[in-house]
Amino acid sequence: MNEATKTCDHDGCGCRIPVSRDYCSESCRMAAESQNVGGACECSHAHCQQRH
Ligand SMILES: [Zn+2]
Ligand SMILES: [Zn+2]
Repeated sequence: MNEATKTCDHDGCGCRIPVSRDYCSESCRMAAESQNVGGACECSHAHCQQRH
């Protein structure tokens, strides 16, 4: 079974997560809820540590 995925709801995060979830990690959820947009993603996933 292939589970559908999407990108994390935190704008600064590019992690792919199951559609049943909103964020890839607690740090992304807290960042988004505190409106800390534009900041670096702190989920520590390798995909996000390389900033453009
Ligand atoms: Zn991330
Ligand atoms: Zn994330």
